Amino acid sequence: MKFNKKQKLITLVVGSLLIVAALLISVLENFGMISWHDVYKSVGIKEVTDVSNTCEMSVHFIDVGKADSIYVNCEDKDVLIDAGEQDTYNIVLEYLQKLGVKKLDLAIATHPHSDHIGGFPEILDELKVSKLLMPKIKDELVPTSRIYEKFLLAIERNKVPIKFPYAGETVNLGNLKIEVIAPNGFYDNINNHSIVAKLTYKNVSVLLTGDAEKESERDILNKNYNVKSNVLKVGHHGSRTSSTREFLKAVNPVYAVICVGEDKYNLPKKETINKLKDCGARIYRTDLDGTVVLKTDGEKIDFITSRQ
Ligand SMILES: [Zn+2]
Repeated sequence: MKFNKKQKLITLVVGSLLIVAALLISVLENFGMISWHDVYKSVGIKEVTDVSNTCEMSVHFIDVGKADSIYVNCEDKDVLIDAGEQDTYNIVLEYLQKLGVKKLDLAIATHPHSDHIGGFPEILDELKVSKLLMPKIKDELVPTSRIYEKFLLAIERNKVPIKFPYAGETVNLGNLKIEVIAPNGFYDNINNHSIVAKLTYKNVSVLLTGDAEKESERDILNKNYNVKSNVLKVGHHGSRTSSTREFLKAVNPVYAVICVGEDKYNLPKKETINKLKDCGARIYRTDLDGTVVLKTDGEKIDFITSRQ
């Protein structure tokens, strides 16, 4: 059968339209969301069984040893809570780059210790950050360390807007709600100045506690914040100075994630693990599981880990 010119033209136009439509649908489907396929790739898992599924929200507890770096993608919003030590900044940066993250709508430096802010200078140089939250620290505790100086210089160099949030403040990023519930005052150590944030997406909530210790936990409970959360990032790498029974009871987590690595303090402490077990939480640890990723549609929660 021979096509005349008109039929050829129609075939060409219809074909092109179909291709454009297919491309548009795939772009819209993935708009701002990270595909599960990308998550598998980023944690180094080759076997991909579920490539079609996009995560509406994913929370990535990146394995950076005894340090915190937690990346959150919720629909088209990107948030980074802490950036690990300086010598692992490339792990965080490469992880984000593998996921195609090009900007951060929000960054939180929970408190100015090197295992939380160390990686920020390079990350602020590389990614556009719309807003950075950091805690107000008692004057006599403000660090004079080289790493803190580098952190401040990077903020200045990249003109990153900073904000010192107050407890009780809520930041809404699209459908992601971020409630700041600490610090609730000034304390005698920097850990207790940690920004504690509760993330809520639909019916799923994740409580990120930085290195907040028992004094901050006590003040959070005294202020009657609703701390109940499906997932708890365990305070201060599982140290015994955090995670009081009263606090764990109020949070009542189904899952607990400990960001920890080999360290002279032998963290996480056995008594912390036992307390978490007693409240029925399923425990994930970055020292044993590698990078831990939570994926949710706002109802159901799934986890994958880089070491399975
Ligand atoms: Zn720490």
